[in-house]
Amino acid sequence: MRPQDVTIVVLGAGINGAAIARECALSGVSVVVADAADVASGATSWSTRLVHGGLRYLEYGEIDLVRESLAERDRLIRVAPHLVKPLKFLLPLKRSRGGLLASAARIVGFEKLAKSLQGDGGRGAWAVRAGLSLYDVLSTDSKWPRHSVVRDLAHWPGIDRSIFPIAMSYVDAQMVAPERFTIELLSDARSACASHGSRFELWNHHLARLEGNRVILEPTASLGTQSRSQRKEVRADAVINATGAWVDRTLETLPLQSPLLIGGTKGSHLVLRSQELYEALQGCGIYAEALDDRPVFVLPFLNGLTLVGTTDVPFFGDPTEAKADDDEITYLLSAVARLFPRIALGRESLEQHYCGVRPLPSGRQSINGKLLAPASVTRRHMLIRHQNAPLPCWSVVGGKLTTCRSLGEQAASKILKTLGVAVTGCSRDRPLPGAQGLTGDQGVWQAEEFLVRKTGLSRVAAGRMIGLYGSQAIDRMGNHPFHLCKMIDGTTLPLSTVSHALNQEWAHTLEDVVERRLLLLFEPVLHRKSLLSVANEMVSIGRLAEESLEQTVNTLTQRFLRRYGKRVIV
Ligand SMILES: Cc1cc2nc3c(=O)[nH]c(=O)nc-3n(C[C@H](O)[C@H](O)[C@H](O)COP(=O)(O)OP(=O)(O)OC[C@H]3O[C@@H](n4cnc5c(N)ncnc54)[C@H](O)[C@@H]3O)c2cc1C
Repeated sequence: MRPQDVTIVVLGAGINGAAIARECALSGVSVVVADAADVASGATSWSTRLVHGGLRYLEYGEIDLVRESLAERDRLIRVAPHLVKPLKFLLPLKRSRGGLLASAARIVGFEKLAKSLQGDGGRGAWAVRAGLSLYDVLSTDSKWPRHSVVRDLAHWPGIDRSIFPIAMSYVDAQMVAPERFTIELLSDARSACASHGSRFELWNHHLARLEGNRVILEPTASLGTQSRSQRKEVRADAVINATGAWVDRTLETLPLQSPLLIGGTKGSHLVLRSQELYEALQGCGIYAEALDDRPVFVLPFLNGLTLVGTTDVPFFGDPTEAKADDDEITYLLSAVARLFPRIALGRESLEQHYCGVRPLPSGRQSINGKLLAPASVTRRHMLIRHQNAPLPCWSVVGGKLTTCRSLGEQAASKILKTLGVAVTGCSRDRPLPGAQGLTGDQGVWQAEEFLVRKTGLSRVAAGRMIGLYGSQAIDRMGNHPFHLCKMIDGTTLPLSTVSHALNQEWAHTLEDVVERRLLLLFEPVLHRKSLLSVANEMVSIGRLAEESLEQTVNTLTQRFLRRYGKRVIV
């Protein structure tokens, strides 16, 4: 059979489903992706947005996972420099000794003993240095600086030196917009299929069920009436269930019998609006321990905002409904306040919050039958084959943003081998579409410069466009100077990005455009007029009925308040 005649159906258009779809597409097979909601609307968007080796996983003996993650981190910085950027971290510590025995106990799986050995002093500098040295050894090909001891904490005036007298620094990476990364993976999959003469289709807002070797896709209510779509039928050769924390629910809908695969934990984040805090970070991330020893990240985020995360709470409900609790908000706010006691931070600094469910493997039982602490459950990905399915079918369990590409490569190789198709393409050194023509940090910087010169955009606005579209930003401006472009009211984004999102990036609803294509959800001050401007553009290109415009904007405004505690300014 020609590869083009083989059709692989990927359920779930999160970062993992998108990476698998792209990798299969690179070998010339046809790919159909379906998502019950929107592209990247699950854990992919609600993560800490780090591309990291996972220093903490060393304590749980996950050497291979850390090695793979570090290699992937460096690769993603190379192939998507506009979306994945190196980030220097400061690791403030309370003491120099202590923590080594606790870490040793963790490595051999004695979490309780580790806790009692550690006391309330947290991990000491010796233990952390041992971990960072191993981290350096494992990042063999990395060109980033090795870890170092921060000799003079006076350069970090915001941090409470009476509690944290010592600090280390090291480099990892940040993907501030995994939503955009996922779109680019899918766009690249579409291009790969086009160049092989194979089929690529993406059906978001569609729910799948299996009838023999056919996948039936029914439009969901979230699609709205304007983007009306018929039921679709796809003859599939293989199905991959990459629906993250929804994996078990998807298996029920297909339906396919399976033991429980996911034992998710929810993690909440705060997005803070405090210029003082943002400036105190000096462009670096802070990785500290909260009072209960859990890691807390305080990170520079989009538009001068600061991202703080995260919690790790077992979650058994519908992941769609996961929301940050008041307790989690208080916990995270107090962790930041403990680090930066001189910065006034309260609920008024809280611009919004968000929460995601980690698709961790179920069965958190340890050897002695006790439940493992959520933090100690492996973040490794697994591909589980369903032997009782009418066609080759797998589910993806676990995974990280960081390892999405290597998961894609491993999954594609397994699937194609099963189907007897040769692996003829690989994403290892393949730049994402927006990275074409950019070479590293320097390339990103030059692209920003070029955009400023060519369009007259401010440096900040140009940086934002490059952050969304990479080297394709100039095309999004229609090659016009800034003053000739119509802009989305109250923003520095051209209005043409709306039609691009709808026509080229699979957006259907106002929520799709605002949350995951243009990231307007993270405007520090989001005005109703901006939402109206996007909605009006949707009306003018026939993607929203004029009579539903007000109601659609109101519904989105209410969603922002309900789910994210975000107020839209009227
Ligand atoms: C709090 C938190 C912090 C994290 N921080 C990091 C980090 O800093 N770095 C890192 O590397 N990793 C991090 N992760 C892990 C990472 O975000 C996830 O492992 C990864 O995003 C999972 O991607 P996915 O594509 O498998 O799942 P998801 O992104 O959840 O995508 C699943 C998709 O499936 C869709 N879907 C649901 N049901 C169906 C159905 N029946 N049919 C079709 N589609 C369906 C959903 O709409 C969704 O779009 C974090 C995760 C969380 C929750």
